[in-house]
Amino acid sequence: MDYIANLPPTHVLQEKDAAHHLHPFTDTKSLNAKGTRVITRAEGVYLWDSEGHKILDGMAGLWCVNVGYGRTEIIEAVHRQMQQLPYYNTFFQTSHPPAIALAGKIAQLAPDQLDHVFFAGSGSEANDTVVRMVRHYWASEGKPTKKTIISRHNAYHGSTMAGASLGGMSAMHAQGGLPIPDITHINQPYWYGEGGDMDPAEFGLMRARELEAEIDRLGEDNVAAFIGEPIQGAGGVVIPPKTYWPEIQRICRERNILLIADEVICGFGRTGNWFGSQTFNFKPDLMPIAKGLSSGYLPIGAVVVSEKVAKGFIEHGGEFYHGFTYSAHPAACAAALANLEIIENERLPERVANDTGLYLAEKWKMLGEHPLVGEARICGLVGALELSPDKAHRASFEAERGTVGTICRDHCFESGLVMRHVGDSMIISPPLVITRSEVDELIEKAHRALDMTAADVTAQGIK
Ligand code: PMP
Repeated sequence: MDYIANLPPTHVLQEKDAAHHLHPFTDTKSLNAKGTRVITRAEGVYLWDSEGHKILDGMAGLWCVNVGYGRTEIIEAVHRQMQQLPYYNTFFQTSHPPAIALAGKIAQLAPDQLDHVFFAGSGSEANDTVVRMVRHYWASEGKPTKKTIISRHNAYHGSTMAGASLGGMSAMHAQGGLPIPDITHINQPYWYGEGGDMDPAEFGLMRARELEAEIDRLGEDNVAAFIGEPIQGAGGVVIPPKTYWPEIQRICRERNILLIADEVICGFGRTGNWFGSQTFNFKPDLMPIAKGLSSGYLPIGAVVVSEKVAKGFIEHGGEFYHGFTYSAHPAACAAALANLEIIENERLPERVANDTGLYLAEKWKMLGEHPLVGEARICGLVGALELSPDKAHRASFEAERGTVGTICRDHCFESGLVMRHVGDSMIISPPLVITRSEVDELIEKAHRALDMTAADVTAQGIK
C-alpha cells in the first residue's frame, strides 16, 4: 500500500493502528477507545493530520526537530549516502567517511574539553553507554569500586533498563523492578514546586549540596559520577537557579566524581548556546547527545567524552565490550552532518539567544499574567507554564495531578497547537527556526487554550 499516494480514510487507519500498534508511554486501552490522531505530513513548524488540520508543532516532535520539517538538504544527503553505502559497521577495525566526518564535527562543536565520540542509536542507548563507560573508566584507573552513579528524582534519561534507572521517574521504576543496582537519586532543583519561601539562589545551592551529602553517605571511593539534564525536560522543564550547576561542578571536582551533562534535549541550540552546559556555566566530562544531533530525521545518539576519560581508555588499552549494530549508522551520520551544517549556517543558537528566544520570553511572561498561570518560565526556546488555582501561593490543584493539564493540552490541539502537559504544567519546545510571526501564533493559541481551560475549571468546579 502506498500511504502517500493513497491515504486510507482516518477511521481505517485508526482501526489498523488499534489492531496492531502498541504505542510508547500510552494507555493502550483508552487510546484504542478514542482513536489515534494520524499525522501525515509536515513542513517548517507545521504538521498536518489525516483530516487536513494544520497544527503548529510547539514541541518540535519530541524536542528534536530543531531545524524544522521538510529540509531538503538533509533528505538529499541521506539519499546520496544510502546509494553510496547504506550500512556498514564500525566494530571490526573499520570506519566509513560519514562516521569520521561526524565525529570530527561534533568534537569541533562541543565544548573544548570534549573531544571524542562514541556513537549510539538514541538518547537511551547513549545513557546506557555512559553507565558502562564511567564504570569501565574507573576500573581501568585501578578504582573498580567507583561504580555508583548519582542522579536526581524526576530526571529523565531514557527508557532502557539503565536509562530508566538513571531517570528518577517513580512510575517508571515501579514497572520492572528499577532502578538497577548502584544508581541513587537526590532531590531536584525545582524551586517553583519545592522551594517554599527560600530565595531561588539559596535553594539552588541547597539542592546542589545534597550531592555532597550523598557522596558522604555512599563513600567517595564508591561513586563514579553525577548525571543531570542542564534543564530537566520531561520532568516539566525545570530550569535550575543559576547557582546550581557551578556548585555541582565544584563538588564533583573536589570529590573526584565525573560530571555528566545529559544534553539530549538541551544540545544543539535549544537554550541559546550550542549546549546547555554553556548556558549554565559548567564543564562536563561526558555528554550524551541525540535528538537535535539529526533533528530527528534519522535516529542517532552519541556520548561525547573528555580528553581525560578518553585518555583512560586509550592509554590503558584493552577492549571496551560495548556497541550497537547501528553505532555510527552511515545514513544517520549523513543526516546529522547536513543538520549540523544548517544549524551552523543559519546561526540557530545565536538566533535563539539574540532574537526569537528574547521575543518568545517577552510574550511568554505575558502568558504568566493569565489568572490560571502560577509561573511562566523560559530559557531559550524551551519553557513551561505552571497551572495553578491560586497563583499568589504557587498552589497545586487538589484534583488528580494532570487533570487540568490534560484539559489544556486538548484545548491546544483543538486550537491547532501542540503543547505537551507534564502533570499540570504546559510545556513548549518549538523548532529553532520558528519565526516571530509563528511565535505570535503560538502565543495567541496558547492564550485561547488557557481561557478555555479556565472556563472548564470553573464550570466543572475543579479545585
Ligand atoms: N535523555 C533526555 C534528557 C531525554 O529527554 C530523552 C528523551 N526524551 C532521553 C535521554 C532518551 O532519548 P531517546 O528517547 O532517544 O532514547
